Amino acid sequence: MTILILGSGGREHTFAWKTAQSSKCTKLYVAPGNSGTAAIAENVNIGVTDFKAIKQLVLDKNIDMVVVGPEDPLVQGIHDMFLNDDALKHVAVIGPQKAAAELEGSKEFAKEFMSRHNIPTAAYQSFNKETVEEGYQFLETLNPPYVLKADGLAAGKGVLIINDLEDAKAELKNMLVDAKFGNASSKVVIEEFLDGIELSCFVLTDGKNYKVLPTAKDYKRIGEGDTGLNTGGMGAVSPVPFATKDFLNKIEERIVKPTVLGLQKDNLPYKGFIFIGLIKVGDDPKVIEYNVRMGDPETEVVLPRLKNDLVDIFEAISNQTLNTINVEIDDRAATTVMMVSGGYPEAYEKGKEITGLEDIESSIPFHAGAVVKDGKIVTSGGRVLAMTSYGKTYKEALKKSYQNIEKLHFDKMYYRKDIGFDL
Ligand code: ATP
Repeated sequence: MTILILGSGGREHTFAWKTAQSSKCTKLYVAPGNSGTAAIAENVNIGVTDFKAIKQLVLDKNIDMVVVGPEDPLVQGIHDMFLNDDALKHVAVIGPQKAAAELEGSKEFAKEFMSRHNIPTAAYQSFNKETVEEGYQFLETLNPPYVLKADGLAAGKGVLIINDLEDAKAELKNMLVDAKFGNASSKVVIEEFLDGIELSCFVLTDGKNYKVLPTAKDYKRIGEGDTGLNTGGMGAVSPVPFATKDFLNKIEERIVKPTVLGLQKDNLPYKGFIFIGLIKVGDDPKVIEYNVRMGDPETEVVLPRLKNDLVDIFEAISNQTLNTINVEIDDRAATTVMMVSGGYPEAYEKGKEITGLEDIESSIPFHAGAVVKDGKIVTSGGRVLAMTSYGKTYKEALKKSYQNIEKLHFDKMYYRKDIGFDL
């Protein structure tokens, strides 16, 4: 089977690594890919939302399956393009159709979905330019901190948590009236602040059946102790030690089942991964957000724990026979620590040579913002490499990740030394 993976991050390197292990995969392409995928697949320099070029590639190379890494092509309807084109509709696409991708594409849509299907989440109301005054009044009824969310995709920057009421009102105006996040903030969801510890749960669905994958916890802030600016993610741990059997059961019964049933009831076609961002409030899980794809860096700790052949799973998703798959999970913990370019998530330099990769032992360095240039591996993004390790416990795994990071070098490399600090 000829398979194409769309994306260029650590997530896609992990997908490629796992897909390449399948005997069913005879040829693997990644578009656009990175230096990690270049070593195990053929990179094609096409952007993930260049649908015309993707279509041409699929036809030219007789591609049988397309695995979509990031959200943008899904929200823009890549799956629908394949289904609506006679020349492409035989291709298996892993990722939901556009209507279902709205669960990530619009926070208002996601909140309405959750209230319709009684899925526990923070109380909320949404506002637009015309109702900004009502938004101020709603803020006055809430206790601080105030949570303001741009409705649309804002590259992970669209959520503001503000302590002061007047500041919150000013930001609401900025978002709705002054288009702080462009069209993404033409609507704003204001919601109740939930106090608790976060974790993520990952679900595979073929639209009828579902399978729950291991939980993970990621570390979003640039600074130790979870301080400083938000990033794409600085590290992750799987499983999450505080997610007990009883708690996992609550997640499945109260959240996963009604989500998959809700997709069916609402006629939202879904074949792919559901990423459910959760918060544990007391002993109860509540949904913070849905993403319609895997997370990065969570993929770097979840997929390495999956023992099944990934292509078997993708085929079952495509054929709606996921019920026949017995998902097997490695008992070991997995951790990943992200090495980033100095300055990230603000301005940083690129093109720094990465050395020491050949000395890595018993860890897997997943490449993210790294490319091959003139025969050398150089940095090309803020998040550069994710060092994944296994261990009997997450502490043992982390120790290996950190030992191997010591062997790597690039100019101004930075990483957090406290991943897992709060577990
Ligand atoms: P991502 O960075 O995952 O793309 P996003 O921009 O789509 O996130 P959310 O996940 O909804 O937005 O929110 C970002 C972060 O803000 C959450 O991870 C959480 O830490 C915090 N947050 C969001 N909603 C709430 C809430 N109701 N109460 C407390 N914290 C919240």
